[in-house]
Amino acid sequence: MSATEGFNEVFGDLLKEIKGFLAAEEGRALYELALTQSSLGPCLEIGGYCGLSTVYLGLGVRENRGVLFSIDHHQGSEEHQPGEEYHDPDLLDPRTGVFNSFPEFQKTIRRAGLEDTVAPIVAGSSLAARQWTTPLALVFIDGGHSYEAVLNDYRAWAPQLMPGGVLAVHDLFPDPAQGGQAPYTIYRMALASGLFEELKIVETLGILKRL
Ligand code: MG
Repeated sequence: MSATEGFNEVFGDLLKEIKGFLAAEEGRALYELALTQSSLGPCLEIGGYCGLSTVYLGLGVRENRGVLFSIDHHQGSEEHQPGEEYHDPDLLDPRTGVFNSFPEFQKTIRRAGLEDTVAPIVAGSSLAARQWTTPLALVFIDGGHSYEAVLNDYRAWAPQLMPGGVLAVHDLFPDPAQGGQAPYTIYRMALASGLFEELKIVETLGILKRL
């Protein structure tokens, strides 16, 4: 049984139960990227939310006994706040009434057996990046979806990639009728910089390699 078949068999049911916004094909692509890239160095995602992408990436990273840093302030992006399109009332802290996805994230990581693989960083992306110096083999950008947020994430983390490192960006919608344009704008900006070559696009997941 290959590692890929293995994760479907073992984790298929778990993956279906994790809250999140990631198609199975996109998750599979993240898993395969993590499997390759984590042999070269640490992997990092921005926007862990409830841990769906974290599990796909983490299962690949675990094969190499690597490490996946998962950055999220866990206070929710604009679209997760009460009254907004992607708000989930289950993620409000019952004591404070404030959005907090970290307990759900921790539950997911425990259930997937990834506690020795995933290092959560509960902080904003800019703060986490401020004194970061370790070259990264993979950066997955799936944090806030405003233009400012995606641009900040790109500026903070793309320079941390090692040569041969992979930059993956989620929620690319070439057709504005299908979704917000910020990730797609930044993705095209990265390509136009000449610093990256495009490996492939899987549904709304764009994958670039640092030259
Ligand atoms: Mg996304």
